[in-house]
Amino acid sequence: RKGNVIITGASSGLGLATAKALADTGKWHIIMACRNFLKAEKAAKSVGITKENYTVMHLDLSSLESVRQFVDTFRRSGRPLDALVNNAAIYLPTAKEPTYTAEGFELSVGTNHLGHFLLSRLLIEDLKKSDYPQKRLIIVGSITGNTNTLAGNVPPKANLGDLRGLAGGLNGLNSSAMIDGGEFDGAKAYKDSKVCNMLTMQEFHRRYHDETGITFSSLYPGCIATTGLFREHVPLFRILFPPFQKYITKGYVSEEEAGKRLAQVVSDSSLTKSGVYWSWNNNSASFENQLSQEASDAEKARKLWEVSEKLVGMA
Ligand code: NDP
Repeated sequence: RKGNVIITGASSGLGLATAKALADTGKWHIIMACRNFLKAEKAAKSVGITKENYTVMHLDLSSLESVRQFVDTFRRSGRPLDALVNNAAIYLPTAKEPTYTAEGFELSVGTNHLGHFLLSRLLIEDLKKSDYPQKRLIIVGSITGNTNTLAGNVPPKANLGDLRGLAGGLNGLNSSAMIDGGEFDGAKAYKDSKVCNMLTMQEFHRRYHDETGITFSSLYPGCIATTGLFREHVPLFRILFPPFQKYITKGYVSEEEAGKRLAQVVSDSSLTKSGVYWSWNNNSASFENQLSQEASDAEKARKLWEVSEKLVGMA
């Protein structure tokens, strides 16, 4: 049978390119988990994913209620779950003030980390039940959260501190809207959320890999300077960033190429090792990359897991 893969944020950028790459193999049915139904339908059409290869299901990661409803809807579809790709993200680098999710968490961390955390915690049960030979749970990471790289050292740097803001509810009321308890900074909130994504992947690996055989992975697909992720950035940045990445840093990768990379992490039989953060060199060969000290801190990962469980109502 075909594999069934859920991809969050498959309505644009990396998620859409991955959906296309997997659909083209003829071996996957893609569940496009998106907040905008019409946009997702149009996106699937625009890249030529054929009707029998995808289903759009509504998911708004900035509402935990919506996450739970999505899981119910998926279960009622009767499809087994063979792979889950946590890909959606928002980036608000120019925001002066924090904005919040339905439950009142700062929007970047609430969407990119907490929404995906609840989704993955719930759907791991479905992955466990599937009889698919190589089951995978992927959380897309980023170089920008890794302070052991050049890109990760551009200020403001990611830093979760002792998680005091997160433990306080990340609501800007009785706690800071930032995980480390500091002043709000939209660019840092995104980077922090990506560190959470990479820590969460590793904690899933430690807690579930031996028992379930599921492969847990994260990745940095390369700098896809053309996606909607930068839509909130100042216009001059949006003009200069793609050529800068293409000709100066040479980290640039097309959406199509990045989609093929993520599709490999979903289905390539040589990428079955669990707990790995994948990257690609300039010849597009994959390798196991090193995470920064903070993004590989097992004690912090455990604490993040426990605090996150409380916030999403699973503890
Ligand atoms: P895009 O902005 O193109 O795609 C992000 C997707 O997330 C969109 O489909 C968007 O939906 C969706 N999304 C945003 N908020 C929500 C929400 N509340 N509920 C459901 N879906 C939501 O960005 P990219 O493709 O670049 O980003 C994809 C992933 O790649 C992210 O995890 C990002 O961190 C990562 N990444 C990107 C890099 C890059 O250079 N672009 C580099 C490294 C990592 P909608 O279409 O409705 O807006």
